[in-house]
Amino acid sequence: MAAKKTVTIIVPCYNEEEALPIFYRAVCDVADSLPGYTLTLLLVNDGSKDHTLTIMRELASRDERVRYLSFSRNFGKEAAMFAGFCNAKGDYVAVMDADMQDPPSLLPQMLAILEEGEYDSVATRRVTREGEPPIRSFFARMFYRIINRISEADIVDGARDFRLMKREMVAAIVSMCEYNRFSKGIFGWIGFRTKWLPFQNVERVAGETKWSFWKLFKYSIDGIVNFSQAPLSLASLTGVLFTAVAFLMILFIIVRKLLFGDPVAGWASTICVILFIGGIQLLCMGIIGQYLAKTYMEVKHRPHYIIAETNDDEAERVR
Ligand code: UDP
Ligand code: MG
Repeated sequence: MAAKKTVTIIVPCYNEEEALPIFYRAVCDVADSLPGYTLTLLLVNDGSKDHTLTIMRELASRDERVRYLSFSRNFGKEAAMFAGFCNAKGDYVAVMDADMQDPPSLLPQMLAILEEGEYDSVATRRVTREGEPPIRSFFARMFYRIINRISEADIVDGARDFRLMKREMVAAIVSMCEYNRFSKGIFGWIGFRTKWLPFQNVERVAGETKWSFWKLFKYSIDGIVNFSQAPLSLASLTGVLFTAVAFLMILFIIVRKLLFGDPVAGWASTICVILFIGGIQLLCMGIIGQYLAKTYMEVKHRPHYIIAETNDDEAERVR
């Protein structure tokens, strides 16, 4: 008999003491229905302030399929996923939220699709945004529209980070070692053949979302700055446009002075022009600043995450 294929499920967890046990049971049920595979859970504790780590230790002591990595502080979901990718050993690797918004029941179907061999990864997207504040949905839609226009990574509206992929794809993801990570863009950028599975939005079983509107907004700016240079081009273009306008204005003023003399008037319009140009200049500097700030963080080469505790002796503790 051929050796069983292994599947590693990466689960970033931040304050998930209520949801994690429910998630664990659901995954165990799915594992039982897949006798042809060995499922391993790779739980990543992203500096939780509740008892998430205690639960992880408990699960790991009871069940040898559970491995956990515990960060020294909260590094964010992106860092948690990256730590998972760096330390996942399975033939197939999946990323799932701990809150059951990524239904484990989809796993068998996803595995079956990969087994057919036509695709390298199966990703999920929710087709509804039920249970989400309307304003949040609105900005989310806007974000997807803008980023797809201006970036080379194609990012699907409603895409979740929940996906199952082959080893080769994981290697590609780990090779992208940028500090400012935006996984949705990274998945799109590396390519590979991806099958999309639509599903209905599910609300989290317990606990609450860790993403405030402001956090999401900053994350979307990260996405744009990481995968597009369009804002910089826009700044340059504005510069060119304004230079052209200024040139025409100079000509106009010289001609007017020669023909009609120069009665002092137009104080209000002068101030308007100064304020307007000042505003545009600051905006463009702000855009450049965003890129510079990202570059600054990149060149420091700080580690993405620091693991303070784990039950996996081979885990890469700092990366
Ligand atoms: N998460 C994390 N670090 C953070 C924030 C969130 O590891 O700083 C995890 C969280 O525990 C969950 C997943 O990322 O498993 C998605 O978070 P959440 O459900 O709050 O986001 P939403 O589904 O509302 O977008
Ligand atoms: Mg969630």
